[in-house]
Amino acid sequence: MSEATTPRFRSVLDRFVAYKPGKMVVSPDGRSFKLSSNESPLGPLPSVVEAIGRAAGRVNRYPDNACAELTEAISARQGVPADHIAVGCGSVGVTQMLLEAVGEPGAEVVYAWRSFEAYPLLVSLSGATSVQVPLRDETHDLAAMADAITERTRLVFVCNPNNPTGTAVRRAELEAFLDRVPADCLVVLDEAYREYIRDADVPDGLTLYGDRPNVAVLRTFSKAYGLAGLRIGYLVAHPAVAEAIRKTYLPFCVSSVAQAAAVASLAATDELLARVDETVKERDRVRETLLADGWTVPPTEANFVWLRLGERTMEFSAACDAQGVSVRPFAGEGARVSIGTPEENDAFLAVAAAFPHRA
Ligand code: PMP
Repeated sequence: MSEATTPRFRSVLDRFVAYKPGKMVVSPDGRSFKLSSNESPLGPLPSVVEAIGRAAGRVNRYPDNACAELTEAISARQGVPADHIAVGCGSVGVTQMLLEAVGEPGAEVVYAWRSFEAYPLLVSLSGATSVQVPLRDETHDLAAMADAITERTRLVFVCNPNNPTGTAVRRAELEAFLDRVPADCLVVLDEAYREYIRDADVPDGLTLYGDRPNVAVLRTFSKAYGLAGLRIGYLVAHPAVAEAIRKTYLPFCVSSVAQAAAVASLAATDELLARVDETVKERDRVRETLLADGWTVPPTEANFVWLRLGERTMEFSAACDAQGVSVRPFAGEGARVSIGTPEENDAFLAVAAAFPHRA
């Protein structure tokens, strides 16, 4: 009989705590502004709610495992062939599928740090090893990332714009980087925030992957399309890559309700992108207000701003909590603040203005 008092788990789990998403806080006077998870501040459109309702009446059946109607709708919207698309349970689900496809002991995955928090967890769970390349001036150091690639590197993430700093890499530097990556190493352009980009020099990954069979583009319905609660994301890449990734799909993991909502959202793209325009205007107002107030805020192409607060990060986060404003702190580094409605943003700006940040 074994002496162990608990079941044995993989030792890699000791390095992580279970993922803690942005929380909801309430001020003493009952106010609550959730600016911690980069969601759309607005609920689904009536046409999307109707589609969800129709799909709800059929949930006794399994969903379409191939997500065929949704794949066709994405194909039509993005102008890419359907066999270039692989759908998953959120783009984080697609990230996991990618790592299932390439990760194994001895394999390395290169990405900038700090970047999206799921990368280290999912890389480790796949059995591969993370190679983190520090950001330079809050943005990807693509030259250093190219230098970090070895014959063991199977995948490189470029989060564009980067979560949590909001900074984006431009076409010339990205193309120069892609030219340096060996053909047998996948490059994943994580474009979760693509719709918020206004800098014309930041390339759309969908215009880059065509000539490059090792480049894959990640998109999500969670941000601009406002379906974070339904978990749908997708990858666009050459058919051989998309097919390999589809093999790692957890059967039926994208629900029929999610598929129906995504199809209806694609049909309402113009209305949803008009909402994105409002968020972009608010983003620029928030950043300009902070800059005028003496804060240092990197240029952002996403639906959030980044404040590098160092040792004062948790103090700032507590000041926000006290006013019912939840932000996403990274202890010792800084805070990421999502752009919400004008009222929500004003609540955050009031806390920022009262915080003695120059001290
Ligand atoms: N990539 C990046 C860069 C993100 O910031 C996020 C969400 N925070 C995701 C992927 C995952 O989004 P989802 O799984 O909701 O599609």
